[in-house]
Amino acid sequence: MTIQSWAEPYKIKMVELIKMTSRQERNQAIKEAGLNTFLLKSDDVYIDLLTDSGCGAMSDKQWAGMMNGDEAYAGSRNFYHLEETINTCYSYKYTLPTHQGRGAEHILSKIMIKPGDYVPGNMYFTTTRLHQELAGATFVDVIIDEAHDPSSEHLFKGNVDLGKFEALIERVGAERIPYICVATCVNMAGGQPISLANLRDVRKLCDVHGIKIMHDMTRVAENAFFIQQREEGYGDKTVAMITHEICSLTDGATMSAKKDAMVNIGGFLALNDDDLYEKACELVVIYEGLHTYGGMAGRDMEALAIGIRESLCDNHIRARIGQVEYLGKKLMDANVPIVRPIGGHAIFLDAKAILPHIPQEQYPAQALAAALYVESGVRTMERGIVSAGRNQETGKNHGSKLELVRMTIPRRVYTQSHMDVAAEGVISLMEKADRIRGLEFTYEPNCLRFFMGRFKTVE
Ligand SMILES: *Cc1c(COP(=O)(O)O)cnc(C)c1O
Repeated sequence: MTIQSWAEPYKIKMVELIKMTSRQERNQAIKEAGLNTFLLKSDDVYIDLLTDSGCGAMSDKQWAGMMNGDEAYAGSRNFYHLEETINTCYSYKYTLPTHQGRGAEHILSKIMIKPGDYVPGNMYFTTTRLHQELAGATFVDVIIDEAHDPSSEHLFKGNVDLGKFEALIERVGAERIPYICVATCVNMAGGQPISLANLRDVRKLCDVHGIKIMHDMTRVAENAFFIQQREEGYGDKTVAMITHEICSLTDGATMSAKKDAMVNIGGFLALNDDDLYEKACELVVIYEGLHTYGGMAGRDMEALAIGIRESLCDNHIRARIGQVEYLGKKLMDANVPIVRPIGGHAIFLDAKAILPHIPQEQYPAQALAAALYVESGVRTMERGIVSAGRNQETGKNHGSKLELVRMTIPRRVYTQSHMDVAAEGVISLMEKADRIRGLEFTYEPNCLRFFMGRFKTVE
């Protein structure tokens, strides 16, 4: 017999105790949190699948790196290590550390966008789109239609629809499109990859029209793994090689290092162009910090440099995505409707299908996430029209075909048994789903309302 199963390529050296709460305590906690899982105290959570951001487990090597932090104000050795790592692994020439991904998005939007511009992207991301809008641009979704259909089994749902992209160029003119934002393993589509063939076609079209490609590379390693598994000609390439190839096809990147690269805080803006780099340096000193630390401590830059290399090991990424698949298959076996194919960092429950009796204007995914917490102590989050927010000009809700609850798996944190318990929580809630009721806002923030909005049950 050959070995079929994967196992985590690490063993556990330290543990953090967690506690289970009673249903009564959870009822109270979610009420106090305005039915928003973002407002729960972490102490009231049993298994935390809110996000995979900043909550991964660092390795002993990363912790050791923290002790080698060089906290000099200027020219920290850890910066040069990070810059060299990003150049070698990701191909980008210049690195500007930022406090996290949105810090990089802020600076990129400010240096590249003029008011009245258009920024196409393979689906929006919350903070990314907001920074584009604040800089005066209109975001245009150019992802393939399959990405908006939770049941489509398309293997590369992150692909750009070249027809939609060309139509935009035709309509507004290339000079009003400073760049296309291409995300790898598209978060809002369910952690779905883009293929290298598609990215190459995007490159060709951009070269014809003088449009740059800016890469949201938050989950590039996970995307590279899917290419290795699914795209012809890449089966014998390593995740590190594929990652390098992806990055080489783009002109620069924003990175939330709290995801793929397994640090608790940090991010960066990476660029190849000398002029853009110079402009970005001028802004980084205003909004983040000196260009050799930006928004990060020396020790954090060291942990990041080490984390980047660990994130690109085939064994690591196979176990990481293997765990996500394990949870997804359990739910599929129990006929729970989830986004297919199973994505890289999370399972997305299809709240529209689970709660057909709640109209989308009553936020079914928000209601489902709150109910799941009460049922099981598992914390998840809404990815539907609450996250989509309102159009900054018209004040109308952004439409969203997808109305999802995201069960996000932090890297190297939970075991398979935690996945079993999380799956059982969802399955047991499914049996009582008809009792869940719709919600309305009692407090709605102007921007990024999903973080701090409060809700009550509709009478
Ligand atoms: C998390 C995330 C960001 C923003 O990064 P932060 O570090 O949270 O500021 C941007 N894009 C994608 C795809 C993300 O998942």
